[in-house]
Amino acid sequence: MTKKIVTLAGDGIGPEIMAAGLAVLAAVAPKINFDYTIEAKAFGGAAIDAAGHPLPDDTLAATQSADAILLAAIGGPQYNDAAVRPEQGLLALRKALGLFANIRPVQIFEALKHLSPLKAEIIEGVDFVVVRELTGGIYFGEHTLNERTARDVNDYSYEEIERIIRIAFDIARGRGKKVTSVDKQNVLATSKLWRIVADEVAKDYPDVTLEHALVDSLAMKMITNPSDFDVIVTENLFGDILSDESSVLPGTLGVMPSASHAENGPSLYEPIHGSAPDIAGLGIANPISMILSVAMMLRESFGETTGAAYIERAVHQTLLAGVLTKDLGGQASLSEMTEAIIKHL
Ligand code: ATP
Ligand code: MG
Repeated sequence: MTKKIVTLAGDGIGPEIMAAGLAVLAAVAPKINFDYTIEAKAFGGAAIDAAGHPLPDDTLAATQSADAILLAAIGGPQYNDAAVRPEQGLLALRKALGLFANIRPVQIFEALKHLSPLKAEIIEGVDFVVVRELTGGIYFGEHTLNERTARDVNDYSYEEIERIIRIAFDIARGRGKKVTSVDKQNVLATSKLWRIVADEVAKDYPDVTLEHALVDSLAMKMITNPSDFDVIVTENLFGDILSDESSVLPGTLGVMPSASHAENGPSLYEPIHGSAPDIAGLGIANPISMILSVAMMLRESFGETTGAAYIERAVHQTLLAGVLTKDLGGQASLSEMTEAIIKHL
């Protein structure tokens, strides 16, 4: 059956890297008999310019009837003082689609080891996934700011915790079979509940090992022992911080994809970096984060594990062949990198 993929190219380098991701998808699709259509929609700053709103109604409607969504990047300095900001479109989209689970794989490519800020022996074998709860917790609790006091409420229900923990276990089952659940159980009530739920869910996954870690200790271990982890799962606030910490390990933003999942309905796939306005339109952006987001989409939304593996292998081989964009210390343009990856498929 034909799958409908809605693309939101957005701003800055967004359109360039989206085109690269779609070129790779077009090249891999016939090899795996993957049948799809693309519906490109305005989103972010581009949609503010065109329609006065970062998430126009027809864009929202298209995403809601999509089988998967690819987002490149939104935002830019020209919107910093705007009444409506591109980022509001993303928050509204996440909310409308119920995207509560954010997934960020962290791996260090053989050919890019020297870019990592960590020593070679420490990053050996690093390959983990950060699973962050995205729609609950302190960011969405009541906020009260008085002159001399302030209050932020952290709320989690059993169900909210359970569904994100299950996602982590499901992912671990297909990987290294270990879940590290992160909390601050020695202090926070929400974390005490978090731990109870994690232990309860673990009973359904006897083949997966569960370990608990306190967030402060985990923040250190992510730097001292990053190869110890397989799947790290945590609440919204801790996940925001830990996923940014994890993104520093490879030493470049340009190779990191992400996925956001809902309970029902389409998932959204996007690079973790922003719109890189400083290099927009120059044809030198690194398209790998977008291309690997396409691979994640094939695997996680469509079960096309072979197609995903083809893309990931082609990226590895292209990097090993020394085809590197400027951010990776090379001279290759965006289109040279994209063509090399397609050739290696
Ligand atoms: P945002 O607010 O949109 O998240 P940001 O200020 O956090 O933006 P990014 O847009 O992610 O930052 O860019 C940070 C730096 O990394 C910039 O110098 C940018 O050029 C570079 N960068 C980000 N993505 C890429 C990419 N795909 N290829 C090359 N360089 C990139
Ligand atoms: Mg940023």
